[in-house]
Amino acid sequence: MKILITGGSGFIGSHLCRKLSENNEVICIDNLLTGKRENIKGLDVEFVEKDITSPFDIKADLIFNMASPASPVFYQRYPLETLETNSIGMKNVLENAKRHRSRVVQASTSEVYGDPKIHPQTEDYWGNVNPVGPRSCYDEGKRFAESLCMNYKMKYGVDVVLARIFNTYGSNMLKDDGRVVPNFICQALKNEKMTVYGNGEQTRSFCYVDDLVNGLMLLSEKGRGGEVYNLGNPEEYTILQLAEEVKRVCNSDSEIIYHELPEDDPIKRKPDISKIKSGTGWEPKIGLNEGLKITVEWFRGVC
Ligand code: UDP
Repeated sequence: MKILITGGSGFIGSHLCRKLSENNEVICIDNLLTGKRENIKGLDVEFVEKDITSPFDIKADLIFNMASPASPVFYQRYPLETLETNSIGMKNVLENAKRHRSRVVQASTSEVYGDPKIHPQTEDYWGNVNPVGPRSCYDEGKRFAESLCMNYKMKYGVDVVLARIFNTYGSNMLKDDGRVVPNFICQALKNEKMTVYGNGEQTRSFCYVDDLVNGLMLLSEKGRGGEVYNLGNPEEYTILQLAEEVKRVCNSDSEIIYHELPEDDPIKRKPDISKIKSGTGWEPKIGLNEGLKITVEWFRGVC
């Protein structure tokens, strides 16, 4: 099968490239804004340096649209690029899919739920998003992208599956992308102070990247066109619990300190994964402790 992966040299995209290139012809396009060439070094993948906000014509049976800055620090550094990637870029992906009758798996996000008022989040929840806040470039960008996907499906029959990806961690994350897992691991490995934002009682549910990639692949095979699926590990931790777990795994003496909570930081997040479970059989297999051990080993060479 011929597979196009946009954002293929970013964090999740590069893991998809690695897995899918074992048995398929893979083309990766990336503008290298937040992705890195070295993430796909040595893989049997064709690399095209390209920004999806310019139209493109690439024949593929399947497209994974993974292109977008995704960490709060990066999407707030590049807000207009984030909005354009998820609007103009999304349109170019869908036009390409329409032309070549490709299936599309769209990397959406738990951020479409904003600061959720129902817990855990199910796919039929519409969310609670601040449209003018500091996270809106990403949240509203991804919400617009979902709408574009659904309307290309209804109007042109483009076969698109939406994956709402929850917090994910593993190798190939940038050490300075500001997300909590790379921050805590690098701080703990260097015995620096670990920066918990707010009181640390806010929660997230962390999925190891190999589980996540398996979920995306299963959705590409068994997901229903025009449907939305939560994809993440429902084991929920407070950020303080995560800090303590990282400290233990790194065998670190770091002191935990508290910084101000960023504006609009969601208080709770946990996916209800019954839909993907019944539709594809997927469920995560790697718990936080095991996933962190592998991730910490990788970060030792990077921090
Ligand atoms: N966070 C933290 N310390 C850090 C980085 C992040 O306490 O050094 C918190 C952040 O405020 C949020 C959670 O960890 O509550 C997850 O943040 P991240 O940026 O990884 O992703 P988000 O889920 O907010 O998109």
